[in-house]
Amino acid sequence: MIKGYEKLTLVDFPGHLAATVFTGNCNFRCPWCHNKDISYIKPDSFPDIPESDIIEFMKSRIGKLHGLCITGGEPTIWGEHLLIFMKNIKDMGFLVKLDTNGTNPDLIVTAYKRNILDYVAMDIKNIFEKYPETVGLKSLDLTPIKKSIEIIKKYFPENHQFRITLVPDLVFEEDIHKMEEIINDSITIQPYKKPQNTEVNGW
Ligand code: SF4
Repeated sequence: MIKGYEKLTLVDFPGHLAATVFTGNCNFRCPWCHNKDISYIKPDSFPDIPESDIIEFMKSRIGKLHGLCITGGEPTIWGEHLLIFMKNIKDMGFLVKLDTNGTNPDLIVTAYKRNILDYVAMDIKNIFEKYPETVGLKSLDLTPIKKSIEIIKKYFPENHQFRITLVPDLVFEEDIHKMEEIINDSITIQPYKKPQNTEVNGW
C-alpha cells in the first residue's frame, strides 16, 4: 500500500509538523499528475514499505511530530487496509490527515465514525462538466464526488480544505470561482507542477 514517505513536512498539514506517506495506485488517470508512476503508470514496480516500518518511525517521533499526512495516489482505494493503518497511527496519539480525490465518501464517513481522521483535503479537479477529461477518463459518475464534498463540510467543518490545481489549458480561474459558488466553500489554488518521474523516498 505505501510506496514512499517524507520524514518531515512543514506545509502539508496546516498548523502542524507532520510526516507524509504516499500510497500507490489511483482510480483517476490525470494526465498532469505529478505522481504518475506510483499512481497509475507502474505502481507495482515500487516495493511496498511495510506499515510496521512506518509505525516504528512514528513511534520514534512521538513528542516531536503532531501528525501524519496520508496522500497518494488515492489512499481511499485501500479501504479497510487504510483504515486499520490510520487507527494504528491514531492510537499512538498522532493526528491523521487524509488527501483524497473524493471518490470514496463511505470511507470518509467510516473514518469519522471510528474517530481516526482529523483533517481532510479533497482535490476539486475542475468544474463538473470538465471532470472526465481533467482526470483522464472517458466518463465518470460524479455522485461520489458530490457526496464527499457534502460529507467533508458536514463532518469536518473546521478541518478541511478543498483545493484545485491550475492546470494550464484545462482549469481556468473562472472555473474555480464557479466551483466555489457551487460547493459554497472556498477552494485553495495549488501551483501546477510539471509531471515528472516520481521520486520515492526510502527510509
Ligand atoms: S487523482 Fe491525484 S494521484 Fe490520482 S491521477 Fe489524479 S493527480 Fe494523480
